[in-house]
Amino acid sequence: MSQLDELYREVILDHYRNPRKRGTLNGAHVHAEGNNPSCGDEFSIDVAIEDGKITDAAMQGQGCSISQASGSMMMDAIIGKSLAEVSDLTTKFKTMMTIEEGENPVDPDRPGSVLGDLEALQGVRKFPVRIKCADLAWATLSDALEQAEKAS
Ligand code: ZN
Repeated sequence: MSQLDELYREVILDHYRNPRKRGTLNGAHVHAEGNNPSCGDEFSIDVAIEDGKITDAAMQGQGCSISQASGSMMMDAIIGKSLAEVSDLTTKFKTMMTIEEGENPVDPDRPGSVLGDLEALQGVRKFPVRIKCADLAWATLSDALEQAEKAS
């Protein structure tokens, strides 16, 4: 295992063991649930939106470390951001998870460079089966934001 892989593993385990914003929200919010049958991961999210901005969010779930760490990192990444920024982040995350390994690893514009801790998940690309684990939180967030759009 390379030093970078080791670092990524530690970041993932830290989020898995100490998930950020675990729980539910009181007050007005949208709720969405998702699951990844191929691994048995479950994830649900509460998102409070005000004036086109995610003012708060909370997550619950169970499953593998990748799925739960991805959700925890996502909480850090989306709270306080506008819906446009979150949509941009979602695209960058999905791009990071699909670019070929070794492609432009030091390009400052590469998606990972703006993703913070989420960058740790790029190692998951080596294990295509686990990409669905990393993606679960983001797919569930998309469901929640779609609901919010329909309700507005
Ligand atoms: Zn999983």
